[in-house]
Order: sequence, then structure tokens, then C-alpha cells
Amino acid sequence: MSTIAGIDLGTIFSALARLNGIGRPEIVPNSEGERITPSAVYFDEEEDGAIRIGLEAINCRQLNPERAVRWIKRHMGDPAWKKTIDGRDWTPQEISSLILKKLKQDCSVEGEIKDVVISVPAHFDETRRKATMDAGTLAGLNVIGIINEPVAAALYYATTQKVCGRVMVYDLGGGTFDVTILDVDGSSIDIVCSQGDHALGGVDFDKKIIEMFEDAYRKEYRTELIQNEQDRAKYEDEAEDIKKTLSRRNVVRKILYGPAGSMRVEITRQQFEEAVEPLMARIEILIEVALEEAKCSVKDIQKVLLAGGSTRMPIVQQRLEKKFGYPPEIAVNVDECVALGAAIHAGLTLLRDNPQKVPAGIAAGLKEIRLKDVCNHSYGTICAPIDEATGRHVIRNSIILKKNTPLPCEATQTFYTMSDGQTQLEVTITQGEDEDPDFVNKIATEIFELPPNRPANRPIHVRYSYDVNQRMHCRFLDEESGRTLDVEFCAGGNGQMNRINIERSAEELSSYKVQ
Ligand code: ADP
Ligand code: MG
Repeated sequence: MSTIAGIDLGTIFSALARLNGIGRPEIVPNSEGERITPSAVYFDEEEDGAIRIGLEAINCRQLNPERAVRWIKRHMGDPAWKKTIDGRDWTPQEISSLILKKLKQDCSVEGEIKDVVISVPAHFDETRRKATMDAGTLAGLNVIGIINEPVAAALYYATTQKVCGRVMVYDLGGGTFDVTILDVDGSSIDIVCSQGDHALGGVDFDKKIIEMFEDAYRKEYRTELIQNEQDRAKYEDEAEDIKKTLSRRNVVRKILYGPAGSMRVEITRQQFEEAVEPLMARIEILIEVALEEAKCSVKDIQKVLLAGGSTRMPIVQQRLEKKFGYPPEIAVNVDECVALGAAIHAGLTLLRDNPQKVPAGIAAGLKEIRLKDVCNHSYGTICAPIDEATGRHVIRNSIILKKNTPLPCEATQTFYTMSDGQTQLEVTITQGEDEDPDFVNKIATEIFELPPNRPANRPIHVRYSYDVNQRMHCRFLDEESGRTLDVEFCAGGNGQMNRINIERSAEELSSYKVQ
């Protein structure tokens, strides 16, 4: 029987946890004995086809930043992003699959890792979710589900700590920020809502330190400190070190070596905290929006749970204590709780869909746990109803599935063809809250071919459903002809990544060695 596992595929670090014989999740260390693996990739120029993942990739990166990839999660689902190495174009999901392959390889020592749940930020859209699943498939994994990172963290907290009532998970990682509000009653968890920003994380705090270095150097020498990519790679690493040191100490001193000479700089925690104020303000706004969405206030939140390495910054904990009147909970390891929760979710998913695959001890360990998740975004379609005041068609985003509906959920709306003889309908799937199509994210557009020679106003039923694995499905049905169009969310080259080319790509990728 293969091992049931959860994977936290993070911007900075990734981790894998498996369920032990009694259904408790445990982190599986990588081949270097580390419990978390840097999500960094380095294409070695020395050994043909060898790809270094993790700490070694970080260490090699300064030698040749052009052959290194970090922070790939920020590009997940972007069809325009690619990295060209020795004439081969690598997509974000292929790069991510290399990281997953290393985890699979290193952690399969005690039993093959096959059925996994991979975690994603709560605010990841459909394309990014699909790209994450594709990355798993490309790595030879069977991705049985996707879980939102703060939900995974909450699942782990709720099943291992004493948590009760309405709680908030504050997840500040390396690349993303998520805040989730949930109700916990014993091992029963109901997600209320989530908010987040996929471009707000630890690396943005590092950038503030780099800016402080650059300003100091410019002031001293009227010259730019960072002249090329190699310099940038070096100062990115140093800025992160300084940021972490400032979590423990009040002041850090450092020598900057630039083109015009060296200089000594001193950064105090207070200076750093002033510089990151705009980032903290964005976080506060997202917390307020989440509270508003949950229709509650600060005093209704009984506990704040932390996840993500960046929550070690004292400013995070101080701000939370000031806002909520009590300190946040840091009882579990913030680097590991997402992977551990994802492993629990993998067990719950298999127990529901494929119980014969779950050993009795694991099933018994999980039997009390109940998770009720919600749909993370509103999904709609673009339509052209007639405006009553002007009698003209207006372009509108019509929401079909509303944000925060408990999963699984399904909703259908009916629209009508606009002209006589209309044989095509352009269907657009949107994600977002606004009525104005310019303010929502268009996640897929396809052409629905209709029968010829029909008058206008033929009904088209649009059904959206959202499954418990955090994936959305859409079906357009032409009532008269019975024709249907199912929309898949893809993020490969030209938006195409179907099963056949995933299999082909997986086969090609299997010839690359990861170390
Ligand atoms: P992700 O899930 O996005 O990969 P993690 O949750 O692993 O991110 O957190 C990594 C981030 O946490 C990095 O930006 C790192 O610099 C930051 N971090 C880790 N430890 C500390 C610390 N002691 N003080 C400040 N930041 C820290
Ligand atoms: Mg994380």
C-alpha cells in the first residue's frame, strides 16, 4: 500500500508529510535530513541533465543566476512565463514538478509516495490550481486533491491543539499572505471565508532591506550598489539573513561591497519596521475585509493561529496582539503545519473516495475529523442583458456561484442567444465580485458552437459547480439541441495542457535526474 501524503509546495520552502499507522501526520525529511526543502532549482551546466533542487540549488545560484529558478510559485498558471535553459523552454508547472519530484524521490524511502494532496494559497484562481495539479502529475504523483494552505494549517491546529470557537489563521509565507476565518468545534471545522494577496510575502520584506542597502550606498558613493544579476542574487540572500536576524536582535551591521568601494551599514529593527509599514498596512486591510466578509468583528475572534515563516517577525506578533488584545498562538511549527494538515486532508479524501486504500489504523485515527470548506471566489459569466432605462444591451458580469458558499455547491443560470441565426456563442468564465467585466478576472474564454437556422432567444443553461477538492467545473447546455460545452481550466502553452500532452511531457521529464 502506498504512503498517504500531503505536500506544501511553497514559494520559498516545500515540505512533505505522511500519515503514520494511526493516522497522525509526520514530516518526512529530505535526503539531506532537512524537514523543509528550499523551492529552488538549478540547472547544472557541468553534468548533462542533472538538476539540483533545494539547498544545493540555493548555494549554486550565485555562480550563475541565469541557470537558477526561485519563487516559481509566483508565476504558476502564467502561460507567458518560461525559462529557457540550453534551448529548452520550461513552464512554471514543469519547474514546480522538479521540486515535487525531488520530494517524492527523497521521501519514498519508507514507502512509495503516490496519492497526495497539494496545498495552494486560498486565493489561487482556477488556472493556478490546475497548474499545481499538473505539476504533481508531471512529477509522477497521483494528486487526489488540493487544499487551501490556511485550511491545512487550521486542520492541523484543530486536530492537535485545544482550539474552539471562531478562529483566524494568519498565514504569511515567503511569497503570499492569506487570512482565513473558521469555526472550530472539537475536530469539526467550518471554513467561513478567506482573503489574500499572492504578491505579498517574505520576499517583499527582503526587498525593503535591499532598498535600504541601495539608498545607503547611493548616498555614500552616488553609485548603484547592484550592477548585475549576480550582485542581486547575493544581496537577496543577505537581505533575507538580515531580516531573520532582526527577528532576534535590535540591530544588524554589515559591510556592503560595491563598485566604488565598501561601506558599513547598520539597520535597526525600528528602521526595518518603518520601511515595511506599507506591507503591514496591506495586511491589515485584508484582515478587515475578511472580518467584514465573515460579518464579525475583532472581539468575535477567540484565537489567532499563525502559519508561514514570516510570522516569526516580531512586528507581526505585536500588531496582532495590539489588534486582538491577546497574543497569537504559535504552538505548532509554522514551517510544517501546512504540509501536516495537507496529509490529514489526503487521508480524509481517500477515506471518502477510495476507502479500501486506507489502512484500518489510519481510518480509525481520522474518523472524528470533519471539514466543511467554502468556495473561495465568486464565479460568473459575461452576458448582455437589456438595460431597462435605455432599451440597449449592456455588458455585465453575472455571478453564478457566490463566494463563501459551503462545498460542494452547484448553481445554474439561463441566458438567451441574442440574434437570429446565431451559430456561435463566446463564453467567458469570470472570477470576482464586480458587475463590471473590467473589474473581474477572466479565467477562460471559449466558443460554443450552436445549430444553424434558429431565431434569437434560444435558452442556454450555464451550470457551475465547485467540488470538495477545491476545483470548479462549468457546463454550458443548449436546451433545444442538447449540445454541451465543458470548460477545462488549463495553463499550458497557448492555454492547452490536456491529458495527452501531460502524459507526453511527464514521460519526457522522467529522463531528467533531480538531486
Ligand atoms: P512559503 O510557504 O511561501 O514557501 P514559508 O512559510 O516557508 O514560505 O516562509 C518562508 C519565509 O519566511 C521567507 O521569506 C523567510 O525569510 C521567512 N522567515 C523565516 N524565518 C524567519 C524569521 N526568523 N524572521 C523573519 N522571517 C523569517
Ligand atoms: Mg507556505
